[in-house]
Amino acid sequence: MMGQRSGDQDRLFYTFNLDDHIPKDHLLRGINHFFDAGDLRKHMAPFYSHTGRPSIDPELMIRMLIIGYCFGIRSERRLCEEVHPNLAYRWFCRLGLDDAVPDHSTFSKNRHGRFRDSDMLRHVFESVLRRCMKEGLVGGEGFAIDASVIKADANRTRGIAGTETIDRSRGEGPSRAVREYLATLDENDDDAHAVDASQEPATQPKNILLTDPAARWTAAPGGPAFYAYSTNYLIDLHAGIIVDVEATPAYRTQEVNSTTASMLAWMINDKAIEPQVPVWEKGARSDETFSNSEFQWLEQSNKYRCPAGHALRSERRPFKSPRTHITKANTVVYRSNQLDCTGRVLKNQCCPNTPIRKIARSVYESARDKVRAIAKTPAYRQSRKDRKKVEILFAHLKRVMKLDRLRLRGPSGAHDEFLLAATAQNLRRMAKWLMPKQEEVKNASA
Ligand code: SF4
Repeated sequence: MMGQRSGDQDRLFYTFNLDDHIPKDHLLRGINHFFDAGDLRKHMAPFYSHTGRPSIDPELMIRMLIIGYCFGIRSERRLCEEVHPNLAYRWFCRLGLDDAVPDHSTFSKNRHGRFRDSDMLRHVFESVLRRCMKEGLVGGEGFAIDASVIKADANRTRGIAGTETIDRSRGEGPSRAVREYLATLDENDDDAHAVDASQEPATQPKNILLTDPAARWTAAPGGPAFYAYSTNYLIDLHAGIIVDVEATPAYRTQEVNSTTASMLAWMINDKAIEPQVPVWEKGARSDETFSNSEFQWLEQSNKYRCPAGHALRSERRPFKSPRTHITKANTVVYRSNQLDCTGRVLKNQCCPNTPIRKIARSVYESARDKVRAIAKTPAYRQSRKDRKKVEILFAHLKRVMKLDRLRLRGPSGAHDEFLLAATAQNLRRMAKWLMPKQEEVKNASA
């Protein structure tokens, strides 16, 4: 017989246990198991008055924020709307069926006040990290560090040229993000957790964003430029747990500088560091003529040997006063002899449009050679594999957690968002790695 439901939904009383309705393998169950906000209230207590109306529970707010960052719900207004009807979200936030969800404005008020005054997000990040260590997910033997560029909350057409003078006295005065940026410059202190705008490189930025001057005008290779911050992760290689996170303005030029020949030479010669980084091969050619790498370098005799066996030298005759031949670009130019080249079989493959072949050798080339040799070792292959663990976390951050663009402005906004995202990533990792799957639970109980 075909059944039919009465459609009666007007019952006043229900026998209902929220916990029964959350799947055993729900991600939030795992996160709830490992997230302990026990000392959060103690940490926050000095920042609340002991009289007056009770505030919204800070633990409730942090639990809601963790949901938002774990499930890619970036807007706090939308987060409040989502928590209201979602049983799993209510369960994780310790809200009953008829408990009210806080208003979205509560988050911004607290963020600009107590959360930042108490450095609450750093406190939560560190307590989650301590739990990761307790669970044995941090080996402490190998670490990887990398940065990823995240777009700032800015219209790329709203900036002005870096050389322009800004009149801050007009309009309603500087915004919060601008005040923060100026304060960071003034303070010039060593606050480890704020974006340190005083560490800017000496070069004038090409464009400045009026609404958020700490964001930097930058571009990925081949892509359009935009305003951005960098999130810097230090991860433990054992299970890819983030052990520290830092927000900085996106200085791509500094990243590039760190792989220049002069930097490699400084690491090898002055600091005895073995740089396991790829070497930029600027002498490679794509027009089927010989690349620089096809010329053999002979250190002892200070010359190159070309594929036809002839020498390329930096000087062809002795000088009365010795010359270094170092150019402004810190290179020494080695030239072939025109008599060797003219009419040779390999001329068209070597220098079809010039009478001789020239090679500009960096004065730091011997350091680059050492780095090239390092790149052939098993240790280098392992470190490349390890570096991918950070890149995977950045990909997850942008694709799954949808943090490819910041929602908050200013250095503190970037700091808050990156800390929360890293906290959520560590919690997700603990939940996924350590919580048994539903099938495993079934098999164990069978
Ligand atoms: S063209 Fe000159 S430098 Fe080039 S391979 Fe021939 S001899 Fe050597």
